[in-house]
Amino acid sequence: MPIIARSTADKQQDWRQILAQSLKTAHDIRRYLELPSPSDEDQRNEQIASRQFPVLVPRPFLDLAEPGNPDDPITRQVLPDADETTVHPLFSSDPLAEADANVQPGIIHKYQGRALLLPATGCAVNCRYCFRRHFDYADNRISRAQWQQSLEYVRSDNSLSEIILSGGDPLMLQDDALHQLICDIEAIPHIRRLRIHSRLPVVIPQRLTAQLLQRLSNTRLNTTLVFHINHANEIGCELQQQLSIWKQSGITLLNQSVLLKGINDDAQILQQLSESLFESGVLPYYLHVLDRVQGAAHFDLPDDAARKIFRQLHSKLPGYLVPRLTREEAGKSGKTLIHML
Ligand code: SF4
Repeated sequence: MPIIARSTADKQQDWRQILAQSLKTAHDIRRYLELPSPSDEDQRNEQIASRQFPVLVPRPFLDLAEPGNPDDPITRQVLPDADETTVHPLFSSDPLAEADANVQPGIIHKYQGRALLLPATGCAVNCRYCFRRHFDYADNRISRAQWQQSLEYVRSDNSLSEIILSGGDPLMLQDDALHQLICDIEAIPHIRRLRIHSRLPVVIPQRLTAQLLQRLSNTRLNTTLVFHINHANEIGCELQQQLSIWKQSGITLLNQSVLLKGINDDAQILQQLSESLFESGVLPYYLHVLDRVQGAAHFDLPDDAARKIFRQLHSKLPGYLVPRLTREEAGKSGKTLIHML
């Protein structure tokens, strides 16, 4: 099978151009990584899985994967799997019951003192384990007027002190739109903290533009950027270089990971991740067990296995490099620390 040309992205290339060149089919990922073809039955199921949750992966992220290895931890996160079509009775399309907390389009309010704004309705990568793979982003695509209503909701609730920009991926917004949004949030006196959750810089490090750095450094809001990195192989040279600049900025850099069977369910792999993050100026913060979303059961680990890995990790690292092992549960006002249970 012919091979797709490898990425030619360099650090000068605009992140939007790189995003536009993303791969969008399992077939193209296989060609790009020179992977063997699946059986006819697996291919049919892969196609069903791709219709349920489309394939999307930027080339710089795939460049971090080992060609020819279908078990590579990066490949497994983005290549659809026939197992996604198996319906599991304990898994659901909305494992965190976010529909109940979706108080109006574009805003989720489930934690005390914090509200999630969903300013962007897409991501730069579709991770096969994503707990929002069935989330109705179409219903949350909001007009400018509705956007003002979301801000009005925040303005009218004095108990809120932190805004979390989540997604989709909030860094999918252009810098100008993000600038305006931050200005609107800064104008709400009771909001003191801004937290941005993003996986975009991991898959396209060029998203960490100088303009973005400048904007986030110049706000009265205490700002945290939370990356979503699951394996040390995701921290390539380009991301490392960007982080070496960002860590000087005073913006708090954290990471949260998902514990994924076959990808990072090993204390040594997680140790390597924590150490690589810290060398890049990022503190490991949360290690989430999988949210039980339909289509991702093949990534799930029993809690006992998760706790065993956590204990091993704890024995290998200083406390500040050990992420908290947590589960998010529908209806609870915070995450549950499961290593305590
Ligand atoms: S970047 Fe985050 S929200 Fe987007 S698909 Fe991946 S896990 Fe889901």
